[in-house]
Amino acid sequence: MSEKMKKCRYCGRDIPEEATFCWYCTRELVARPERPDVTRRSSKIPVWVWVLVGLSVVVVIASLLAWL
Ligand SMILES: [Zn+2]
Repeated sequence: MSEKMKKCRYCGRDIPEEATFCWYCTRELVARPERPDVTRRSSKIPVWVWVLVGLSVVVVIASLLAWL
């Protein structure tokens, strides 16, 4: 039973497949799994929402004025 090995891409020595860094040259080896883009999660509000909000504000103001 041999562990799966891979070669350090920096020094070329055999290290376990799941190693995240090479303990010979202590370099990090993790090819980071594509992380879901966290930075691009800024709230993206569609334009029609703003239009809707604007319209409802106008309607509210108009009805308030009508009440006066
Ligand atoms: Zn190495």
